Amino acid sequence: MFTLIQHAHVFAPQDLGICDVLIADRKIAMIAPTLTITGLDMDVIDLDGARLVPGFIDNHVHITGGGGEGGFSTRTPELQLSAVTSCGVTTVCGLLGTDGVTRSLPNLLAKARGLEAEGITAYIYSGAYQVPAPTFTGSLRSDLMIIDKVIGAGEIALSDHRSAQPTWQEYVDIVAQVRVGGMLAGKAGIVDFHTGDGTRHLDYLRKIVTDTELPYANMLPTHINRNAHLFEDAIDYAQGGGFVDVTSGVNPQNSAADAVQPSVAIRRLLDAGVALSHILMSSDGNGSVPLFDDAGNNIGVGVADQASLLTEMRDAVTNEGVDFSAALSIITKNVADLYRFPRKGEIEVGRDADLVALTDDYEVAHVWANGRHMVKDGAPIVFGTFERQ
Ligand code: ZN
Repeated sequence: MFTLIQHAHVFAPQDLGICDVLIADRKIAMIAPTLTITGLDMDVIDLDGARLVPGFIDNHVHITGGGGEGGFSTRTPELQLSAVTSCGVTTVCGLLGTDGVTRSLPNLLAKARGLEAEGITAYIYSGAYQVPAPTFTGSLRSDLMIIDKVIGAGEIALSDHRSAQPTWQEYVDIVAQVRVGGMLAGKAGIVDFHTGDGTRHLDYLRKIVTDTELPYANMLPTHINRNAHLFEDAIDYAQGGGFVDVTSGVNPQNSAADAVQPSVAIRRLLDAGVALSHILMSSDGNGSVPLFDDAGNNIGVGVADQASLLTEMRDAVTNEGVDFSAALSIITKNVADLYRFPRKGEIEVGRDADLVALTDDYEVAHVWANGRHMVKDGAPIVFGTFERQ
C-alpha cells in the first residue's frame, strides 16, 4: 500500500534535485527533500541519488501483435506484461496495423483490459490501416464516445502502397469524427497516421489544416524518420505547427538505408526550431521487423521491442547533446499533454505512481506502475498471467 523511495534524483521531467517520494496505493502522495514517516507499514527503497523519472508512455504499440506482410507465418505474437515493464513503459496505446481482418478491435480491447488487470495502463485506437476504418459501433465518433478505452483512430495509412488509397475528403472525415467524438467524450481525439514511403508525404495533413477548421492537435503522423525525404517534410510540417512522432524502432540498420536514427531525428527537430512539446516518440513495439545477415540478405522477420524508447532517448542525450529533461519529455510529458492523460507523464503529487528508476548507464533498475512495484533491481517481479509457464 505504501512505498517510500529515498534519495531519488527526480526528473519530473524538470530537474527537482534529490527528493524522497511517497507512494500511497496508486498515487504519488508526497515529494520533499526529506520525508520522515513513522507508523506506516511500507516498502523502503533507497536510490542513493539515482534518477527517478515518469513511467514512459508508448503511444503506438501492436499489443495483440502485428506484421503478417510476409504471409501468415510472419504474424507477430501478443505483447507480454514483463516485456512492457522491463523497458520502463507503464502506459501503452494499442492499435491494429496492416492486417485489420484477422486482427480485430474486440481482441484489441480485450488485450488492453488484460494488461490493465495485470497492472499497467492501456488505451486503444479504433480503426486500422484501411479506410473505411473498422469500428466497434459503426462510426469512429461513437466509438470514442461509447468505449472508454478508445482514445482515437489508428494507425490510418497515409502515403503508403499498403493504404486503401483514400481520397483527401475521406481523411478529413476521419479526423472530423475523431475530433468531435473526442470532444463529446472529454478525450483528446488523436488520429495516428502511419506514414509510408510515398512522395505525397504529409501534404494531405497540411491541407486539412489550411482548407478546413480542423487543427493540428488531432493528428499525429508517425514513422517520420523512416526515410530522409519524409523526415525533411516532417521538419517543415512541425515548424508550421504540426505534431510529429519519431519511431524509435526504425533505424538505418533495420529499415531504409536513409532512415534517420531516432536520436538524431530528435536533435535535428530541435535544431530546426520545432517546439519541444510538438515532438513525441513511440516504439512501434511488437510490429514485425525484417532481419538481415551480415551480407545484408533478408533472413526472416523478428519482433520489435520497446527497449528502443529508452536507448534512443539515451543516445539523444549522450551522443547528440540533447538536454536530459527535454529528451525525457518526448516519451512522457509531451505524450500525456497531447493525449490529455492528466494523471500521467509527470512526477507530481496526485498523479498516478508510474515511476522508473534508471542507473547511470540508462538501464531500468526499478519500475512502479500505478503504485505497484513491477521491476526490482533490473528484473521483473510481476509477470503476466500466462508468462513463465
Ligand atoms: Zn505503421
